[in-house]
Amino acid sequence: MSAASPAQLPGQCRISSWNDSRFGKLRDLFDDSATATGYVTCTMNVKTLLNRCHPIKAFIYETARFVGQQIYVEVRPRRGSQGKCGECGCAGSTYDTARTPRYFEFIPLWGFAVFLVYCMRRINCPTCGIRTEQVPWADGKNQCCNVYRLFLARWARRLSWSEVAQIFGTTWNVVCRSVRWVVDYGLSNRSMDNIQSIGVDEVSIWDGHKYLTVVYQIDAGMRRLLWVGRERTAETLRGFFTMMGEERSELIQFVASDMWKPCLKVSASSTKSVGELGFGKTPKFMI
Ligand SMILES: [Zn+2]
Repeated sequence: MSAASPAQLPGQCRISSWNDSRFGKLRDLFDDSATATGYVTCTMNVKTLLNRCHPIKAFIYETARFVGQQIYVEVRPRRGSQGKCGECGCAGSTYDTARTPRYFEFIPLWGFAVFLVYCMRRINCPTCGIRTEQVPWADGKNQCCNVYRLFLARWARRLSWSEVAQIFGTTWNVVCRSVRWVVDYGLSNRSMDNIQSIGVDEVSIWDGHKYLTVVYQIDAGMRRLLWVGRERTAETLRGFFTMMGEERSELIQFVASDMWKPCLKVSASSTKSVGELGFGKTPKFMI
């Protein structure tokens, strides 16, 4: 890697008529010599880009190099900073540093795959003993940077997972794991408190042969998907309230449903209300 050339990204463009008024503001950004020659040379370092878009506290981006069609950016700890224990997150002194670096895939840049290169430290944790450090740009032993996984998951909302993998030069499995990681994070951090109004709907899948039950929160200022269950039976809806728990279910005041038979059945009879599904109060139904 040392033989590779540094990855500077020079942009040089010839402007035929530099005095053209359309270039006024742009021209002011450059010095007189550029104006005189009609050439604008702006050298942008990958390190600068990374510091702008993905600064890492307590770490420094070092040289970026091309290796074939890939860009490798070395990362090192900021001088004097302590690593954090990979198990409990406590700061500790460095026990030793791996000789072989690990590679973390980053968001591709202009079609080039980008990797952060880092030699992991082992930390002398006061609680856990000697442990491999945790790094802020990736979780555990994952080989993708968190920012890249988030990037892939966002694209996966717009395109099929296969298309995302193809466009960004990765695999379907990486895209799948990225989506799962984002969903898991969302599930573990979502708040299900203070939900007062829900909407229950059915969605047909597999050419209309199968159904899913979906439950939305429809409170003013908070509309979101809460839950998805297989089939469209009363048992399915019961699953939602089980997930919510008794206390939070009792707070629900309104349930809106459209053409969903088990839900209509539940609403038609006061004895077959959501209350009868297991939890106290009977919500009002709007159909
Ligand atoms: Zn620890």
